[in-house]
Amino acid sequence: MPPRADTANRLRERPVRCSAGAAERANLIGFARPRLESFFESLGERPFRARQVLKWVHARGASEFEPMTDLGRSLRARLGEVAEIRAPEVEDHRVSADGTRKWLLRVDSGNCVEMVFIPEGHRGTLCVSSQVGCPLDCAFCSTAQQGFNRNLTAAEIAGQVWLAVRALDRPVTNVVLMGMGEPLLNFDAVTEAIDLMLEDLAYGLARRRVTLSTAGLVPGIDRLAHRAPVSLAVSLHAPDDALRDRLVPLNRKYPIAELLAACRRFAAVNPKQKITFEYVMLDGVNDSPAHARALIERLGTVPAKVNLIPFNPFPGAPFRRSPQAVIDAFRERLNGAGIVAITRRPRGDDIDAACGQLAGEVVARAARGRRSALAAMQ
Ligand code: SAH
Repeated sequence: MPPRADTANRLRERPVRCSAGAAERANLIGFARPRLESFFESLGERPFRARQVLKWVHARGASEFEPMTDLGRSLRARLGEVAEIRAPEVEDHRVSADGTRKWLLRVDSGNCVEMVFIPEGHRGTLCVSSQVGCPLDCAFCSTAQQGFNRNLTAAEIAGQVWLAVRALDRPVTNVVLMGMGEPLLNFDAVTEAIDLMLEDLAYGLARRRVTLSTAGLVPGIDRLAHRAPVSLAVSLHAPDDALRDRLVPLNRKYPIAELLAACRRFAAVNPKQKITFEYVMLDGVNDSPAHARALIERLGTVPAKVNLIPFNPFPGAPFRRSPQAVIDAFRERLNGAGIVAITRRPRGDDIDAACGQLAGEVVARAARGRRSALAAMQ
C-alpha cells in the first residue's frame, strides 16, 4: 500500500491508549469551575483555588504550575504530580491568502482534528471541532467521508481555544462549534468546554458570541436550551423531508417538523436570539425558486435567519456549488419574504479550511491521501 493511504488509514484507527501514568493525571485545561472546585476539595484544598487556576490557565495561558506563585510551593509540587495542563499538539498550521488560518491538531497518537480561525474586521471567529470524524454521514460533507472515531474530551475542545488564543496576535471574539463532528452527540464535554468559553475568569465570551451548530439532534437541542443556551445554528439544507432525508440522514430520525418544534422551544427559552438556519447551496439539488418558497413557508413561525453556504467542493464530492446568480436569487426571495438571509463567503478555501472541508488528515498529504483512501474503499 502506498505510504499516503497508510497515513490516511492510520488516522482512522481507534485511539491508542496513553501510558498509564499520563492518563491518570487530571488535565485541568478542560475543567470548568465546578469540576475544578471539586478537584481542589479532593486534594483537601479550599475551592477558591479553582478561581486562581482558571485565571492562570486560560486568561494568562499558563501550561505549567511552577509560575503560579499565589498557590504556594507544596501545592504547586502536588499539582505537578497529579495534574497537567495539556492542549492538543499542533501537527500543521496554514495561513490562507485571505488571512484564514487552519491548524491540524493531534489529540492522540492515532487521531487529528482541525481548527480554523477566520478574521473579519474586528471580529475573529474560531471554529473548533467536537469529535474526531463524525457519525452523521451528511452527503455533502468531507468530514463524513472519514467516518467516526471518537468524541473529543472537554480538555481537547477547550484546549483548542487555549491554543488559538496563545497563537494569535489578535483576539478571539467569537467561537463556533462548527468544525469536525456533531457537538450535540458529545453533550457533556461540549457543554463543559462552553462553560469555559463563557467563564469570566477564562475567556469571558458573551453567550451570543458562542454558536453551536447541529445537524438537528432534537433531544440535544432541548437539553442545550436549559444547560447552556448559547446561539444555535441548525443545518437545515432542505425544506422537505424527502430531500433532507437524502442530504442529512439524521432527518430520518428527527424530521423537519420535529426539528422546527425543538427550535421554537429553544427560541422560547432564549427570546432575544434568532436561530440561524444553515443552507448549503447545491447546484440543481436544493436551490430552485420552489425550494426557496417551501423554505419560507416552513420557517414561517420560527424566529429565524438563514445562512446560505455556497457548497465547498472536496475531492470525490458528488455535488457542485450553485451558480452565484442562483444563490443571489434564492437569497433575494428569502429577504423579500422578510427573512434575514446572508450568503456566507467561502473563507480559506485555498487551504481547504472552508465549511465542510475539514478532514483531520495530515494536511500536506490531504488531497492525495483522501483520493487513495477513497480508492481503497471502492
Ligand atoms: N455537525 C454540525 C457542525 C459541523 S458542520 C452540523 O451539522 O451543523 C458546519 C456546517 O458546515 C454545517 O452547516 C454543515 O452542514 C456545513 N457543511 C458541511 N459540508 C459542507 C460543504 N462541503 N460545503 C458547505 N458547507 C458544508
